[in-house]
Amino acid sequence: MVLLRFAPSPTGALHLGGLRTALYNHLYAKKYRGKWILRIEDTDSTRYVPGAVEGIRAALEWTGLEYDYGPGRDGPHGPYYQSERLDLYRTYARRLLESGHAYRCFCSPDKLASTRERLARTGSNATYDKACLHLTEEEVVRRVRAGESSIVRFNDDRLPQRDAATDLVFGVLRDAHASLPTDPVLLKSDLFPTYHLASIVDDHEMGITHVLRGEEWLPSLPLHLDLYASLSLKPPQFAHLPILLNPDGTKMSKRKGNVSVLDFMRRGWEPEALLNWLALAGWGTQHDPNKKQILFGDSQAPDSTAVMTLPELVDQFDLSALTHRRNILDPAKLGYLNRHHLMRSWKNNEATACHAHRIRELVKSDFPTRYLRVSSSLTRSSMQPTIF
Ligand code: GLU
Repeated sequence: MVLLRFAPSPTGALHLGGLRTALYNHLYAKKYRGKWILRIEDTDSTRYVPGAVEGIRAALEWTGLEYDYGPGRDGPHGPYYQSERLDLYRTYARRLLESGHAYRCFCSPDKLASTRERLARTGSNATYDKACLHLTEEEVVRRVRAGESSIVRFNDDRLPQRDAATDLVFGVLRDAHASLPTDPVLLKSDLFPTYHLASIVDDHEMGITHVLRGEEWLPSLPLHLDLYASLSLKPPQFAHLPILLNPDGTKMSKRKGNVSVLDFMRRGWEPEALLNWLALAGWGTQHDPNKKQILFGDSQAPDSTAVMTLPELVDQFDLSALTHRRNILDPAKLGYLNRHHLMRSWKNNEATACHAHRIRELVKSDFPTRYLRVSSSLTRSSMQPTIF
């Protein structure tokens, strides 16, 4: 059975890129009658935002993407918060230390900063001079016993033999270790893991078969595969999802404008239209203009805007159809899809009543009562509020 995971860090609201990742995990899991986990990657306390987990869960609930296991939905892989799994990461770090694939580094943050500067001045790509790699075992034991603070680094002088990195979207990749820091940190001095260690340990321990995540993690793939090989573990399959862009070609980010899912909810968009829009960004479903004109009388249909419900998306989802080009999210397409999702649902009385209620609430919140005037010339039975 396939088992996937969506693993956001609670560093803020769920944004469109994150929702697209959750959606593709859902589509893949459901298509192959598997399951998916919501895993909260909360090991960086400096970036933790209170209320973020609740926001992520509320956004997923609104869109109808139901995870099978995770916070509030216990299962065999828990706990689902990484901060509750710290012993596990320490055990794996110890294994890497014992096999020589990792080593303890006692350099202070100041010393590390000056080393980095010195290396940069000489034009080196290295970010660390591996000073602690050559400490004797006795020296390490002595310093640990003396209570000196240390971190655990991966030893990239001892890379294991392994297959080339293959990604289900990007294909076979040439390893680019040079783009990674020298001897990446696995365990910090507070004994909390870095993302790399926690992520590979959990994907293995939870039995994840497929990792679908944002393209920004593609440079980390060689390191993750090296870690699996160093631990003699079979890695899951990876699929990196191309970055989403704003209509002007700039990278979509939390810092630039309203990309939070809950903002789309507040502005009254149809959740299924939002999912439809995100699913098609990067997944070129053929648009059939003739069919739409006949069905909806709309000759303005933008390209690649097949109107699909969530079950239809599950049915047609195909990882091999994903492009590795960066994808522009065109708001005109969302408008188009939203109209058609509304029209579809209006064939159903219950959905129509539900929409009427939502529209009423939206009008009430956007136009406080002082903007509502009831015309006195109207009879009681035909009385309609006028909105200015
Ligand atoms: N916590 C990472 C993030 O929020 C997850 C990366 C992954 O899926 O491996 O982007």
